[in-house]
Amino acid sequence: MGLGLDLILLGPPGAGKGTQAKKLVEKYGIPQVSTGDILRDAVKNNTALGIEAKAHMNRGALVPDEVVIGIVKERLKRGDCSKGYVLDGFPRTIAQADALFSYLNECGCPINGVIDIRVSKGYLVKRLSGRRVCRSCGFGYHIEFSPSKGNGRCDNCGGELFQRDDDREEVVTKRLDTYEAQTAPLIDYYEKSGLLKTVNGVGDVEVIFNDICKIVDGR
Ligand code: AMP
Repeated sequence: MGLGLDLILLGPPGAGKGTQAKKLVEKYGIPQVSTGDILRDAVKNNTALGIEAKAHMNRGALVPDEVVIGIVKERLKRGDCSKGYVLDGFPRTIAQADALFSYLNECGCPINGVIDIRVSKGYLVKRLSGRRVCRSCGFGYHIEFSPSKGNGRCDNCGGELFQRDDDREEVVTKRLDTYEAQTAPLIDYYEKSGLLKTVNGVGDVEVIFNDICKIVDGR
């Protein structure tokens, strides 16, 4: 369980949480705990969890709280979280935030930083529906903003690029509605707890990362 750098990245789908989390992993040596990645892995491997999660994910809805809370508790117990972690995509509801709070309090290691990455809604639809991901290494591209050089292939490893099922335009709108209804209230929740800091999520990835690092280093 974390001792210092116990972070949450908040923000709507497509805000760049995953990209920034990977950069935090590299710089601070803490693991990224992405419930979206864990669920996608389960879907890919056709596990019981994956079969349950897939139906929710493909219609832009959330997977039930008790399922994701269980996943995160198990994940945070692993040794690599001992020096901290960055939560990406969790919590996504008040119930999840409450459960996380109680769990970490019991462990004596509360969250010590919540960073909200702000991006306006119109921009997100374009970002999400143009997003492509490498099937092999998971590297992210955008057909307009950061296209790969090779024809539909990853610049890093040559893997095939694909569009996530839930990045299709019709699902994207639903995911953004779900965010507004269920996740956006967490901004207020963490503001009240005094943990919330915000960064502007539009612009150069490195500039955004620099803003995040300033917050992390100044905690
Ligand atoms: P993400 O990659 O974080 O955008 O997550 C993709 C999808 O996985 C979401 O649209 C949800 O269906 C599901 N998911 C990921 N994290 C959570 C969570 N904390 N609570 C409920 N569902 C989640």
